[in-house]
Amino acid sequence: MEELQQRLIADSVKTILVALGQEPERDDLQRTPERVAKALGELTSGYAQDPALILSTTFESRDYDEMIIVKDIAFTSLCEHHLLVFEGTATIAYIPSQQRIVGLSKFARLVECFARRLQVQERLTTQIARAIQQHLQPQGVGVLLKASHSCMAIRGIRKSGLTVTNCLLGAMRDDDKTRAEFMALVNH
Ligand SMILES: [Zn+2]
Repeated sequence: MEELQQRLIADSVKTILVALGQEPERDDLQRTPERVAKALGELTSGYAQDPALILSTTFESRDYDEMIIVKDIAFTSLCEHHLLVFEGTATIAYIPSQQRIVGLSKFARLVECFARRLQVQERLTTQIARAIQQHLQPQGVGVLLKASHSCMAIRGIRKSGLTVTNCLLGAMRDDDKTRAEFMALVNH
């Protein structure tokens, strides 16, 4: 995040502190505006990342066309309705085509690229799935997210508990047997 952005955010946080009846110059609050600006910079660092680039290095696997699954990739995201954190795990499965396979660590980076933005969980799920569909052109892809939202916990709605979303594309959506295999793997 650029210095000008950081300063704008820090100034705004100072205004918020004043509105909360606080004295922003007192010892413990003095550096809070800069800290919040830095944290928001980290939570939105995904805007500077390019999913096409992350998925650009593929390798061929001539004899593998079965489902590949990466489970429980931890993520932290920022709910755009309240600017509060939601966090959870992503599970990604795909069936490669044209032997186009990516290293498993790429999925962690892909999730991070979209999670570190202002988000809603449904869109985050869809964006991950569509990026894989677009850049790897697999036979099918399935993405399942489980997350707990601090905005819900604070307001007492569904106090504890996970929100589950999924997005299935291609064979993962259209082929009953493949979809069942995906669901069995993610619930295992
Ligand atoms: Zn929220």
